[in-house]
Amino acid sequence: MNELPLFDDKDVSRILCVVAHPDDMEYGASAAVAKWTQEGKAVSYLLLTRGEAGIRDMAPDEVAPLRAAEQREACRIVGVDDLEILDFPDGLVEANIELRHAIAKKIRQFRPDVVMVTTWRLETPWGLNHVDHRNVGVATIDAIRDADNPWLFDDLADAGLPAWKAGRLLVNGAEPTHAVELSDDDVDRGVRSLEAHKVYLEALTDHPVPREMITAIASETGTRAGVKYALPVQVIGM
Ligand SMILES: [Zn+2]
Repeated sequence: MNELPLFDDKDVSRILCVVAHPDDMEYGASAAVAKWTQEGKAVSYLLLTRGEAGIRDMAPDEVAPLRAAEQREACRIVGVDDLEILDFPDGLVEANIELRHAIAKKIRQFRPDVVMVTTWRLETPWGLNHVDHRNVGVATIDAIRDADNPWLFDDLADAGLPAWKAGRLLVNGAEPTHAVELSDDDVDRGVRSLEAHKVYLEALTDHPVPREMITAIASETGTRAGVKYALPVQVIGM
């Protein structure tokens, strides 16, 4: 059964991952990142919030540095050393000009050929999507276009950041059009990157076991793509 074609990433060299919170990349996507960094591709993470409102029984000023440390460890496991965490308010992110500007700035700085996001759709396979995920996803689509428009955000051009076109968008959690093939080691590192969010996961009483969850996603998608393991992605030309 080969219903999902493999994503051809041979000509991809720079991937910018834009998400709302620490841990958002770790639900499968980071396994593909492990593959890409292993292949020598440059991968950068832009997190729009510090995830400070994510643990019910812990104060935000305690949570923010803890989650940043857990994210740095998750990044280390999959070979990412370029991690930027901005301080948009966790839980209250709006898809506004300020957010688009921040993402467009990062796109012009990093100059990716692919941008990866989490789905912006309200209904997802795992339930109703978080408002920050929705708004960051939509703002990222807009920011990809903004980054390529030389007449927008003069301050960026003045700062030496000319227009840049990121040619493709990869969406996690959407109805997939493609699969990124993963090795056993990629999946293992993806699992360990999720496990790195230790305190955060301990605070969630009903969270599935990372190894079982990630392996199941990778294995099910692999079957659909005719390989052992794969990550499902929607690929959109920009
Ligand atoms: Zn999140």
